[in-house]
Amino acid sequence: MAQSSVFHRDLNAELPVIVSGDGSYLIDDTGRRYLDACGGAAVSCIGHSNAKVREAIKAQVDTLAFAHTGSFTNQPAEDLAAHLVARAPKGTGAGRVMYLGSGSEAMEAVLKLARQYCIEKSEPERQHIIARKPSYHGNTLGALATGGHAGRRAPFAPLLINVNHIDAPYPYRLQQDGESETDFALRMASLLDAEITRLGAETVMAFVAEPVVGASLGTQPAPKGYWARIREICDKRGVLLIADEVMSGMGRTGTTYALEQEGIAADLTTMAKGLGAGYQPIAAVLAAQKVVDVVKAGSGKLWNGHTYMSHAIATAGALAVQQVIEEENLLANVMTRGAQLKAGLGAAFGQHPNVGDIRGRGLFWTIELVADWATKAPFDPLDGIAMKVGAAAKARGVMTYPSQGCVDGVKGDHVLLAPMYTATEAEIDLIVQTLAAAVA
Ligand code: PLP
Repeated sequence: MAQSSVFHRDLNAELPVIVSGDGSYLIDDTGRRYLDACGGAAVSCIGHSNAKVREAIKAQVDTLAFAHTGSFTNQPAEDLAAHLVARAPKGTGAGRVMYLGSGSEAMEAVLKLARQYCIEKSEPERQHIIARKPSYHGNTLGALATGGHAGRRAPFAPLLINVNHIDAPYPYRLQQDGESETDFALRMASLLDAEITRLGAETVMAFVAEPVVGASLGTQPAPKGYWARIREICDKRGVLLIADEVMSGMGRTGTTYALEQEGIAADLTTMAKGLGAGYQPIAAVLAAQKVVDVVKAGSGKLWNGHTYMSHAIATAGALAVQQVIEEENLLANVMTRGAQLKAGLGAAFGQHPNVGDIRGRGLFWTIELVADWATKAPFDPLDGIAMKVGAAAKARGVMTYPSQGCVDGVKGDHVLLAPMYTATEAEIDLIVQTLAAAVA
């Protein structure tokens, strides 16, 4: 390929040119096929080039692409919102959906909506946001400030908004010897209570967290009881609960929203990656009826807007993706293939001296690489060991999602897997075998 004119992450890299997709595979201009075991960053999830989604997008292009949301709504946007609201975690109420173009924009939108909620409720002094570390909530400045990822924050410090961070539950490194799962869950949840008290209960606007932590920590679910306790604390203190389901949502962990499995509902939920599954750049915010009621009774206006909200082609594409997931019963395959992946990783790495932890849920799994299994000592993040494993897997034709360890030493390097919900038994076997060869 001639020198690229596109601004890539690595300006010195020569990237393969992908020309087509076929189920779990991406194909480059030399005809080489890559088994996509991560869907980019857990984006593609129903396979590449799905015929039903392609047809739905083509049909929408033939009728309506865009009508400005200042004056109109449109049918695909309404149909997708009805679909999402109908499947919202119990406790959301009727709810409403707002569309954005990316996960980061969705995070900005929920922070602004939380702020609007507090002002409309005549509680303008509620301004503090509490989030967790590690976490990743996006790349725009507000979302970046919310994320607790030392390496990504550092170049842009001081960030525009001040966000307070508590530890995310991370059993491998934070659960104490002899501490039960319940005790660990309650201890980690009590960090939120303590932080609200420290800041002053009447000054806290929202708590933001990923129900299953994605890229920053590597598919880390919370211990049993954590989320129920978090919900109680938020209710007791009048703090909004914001679930960032950009990566964990839309079936990735086996249910549409990961928080469903915890038996609670958030007040505001973001979703993105599996929503459009890569067929359209689309994200959404789901607001519980409690939030909608306050805004309706207050100014009655949404204090946020982007030109391309409710884009008809984007929403039609995303609706088709969600229908494929449901009509083809793909979440059952997520659970079956997820169990196979968990067992395969356990067999391949359970005794490996450089794999300290294997964690995940559904079809969302991670191995954490360590320099010393006994002491859990991480590799020096500057050695880029996860990146080397990712490159070795790519050289063998399998795409994974490697992440460097935290420069602040909070966690080690990891390699994340997020295969397609349509993955076959043979594909999962090949993913595990290739990762084992890459680690070796
Ligand atoms: N929130 C979470 C949990 C994410 O994983 C990401 C992206 O990886 C984002 C937000 C930001 O999404 P986007 O990259 O679409 O802006």
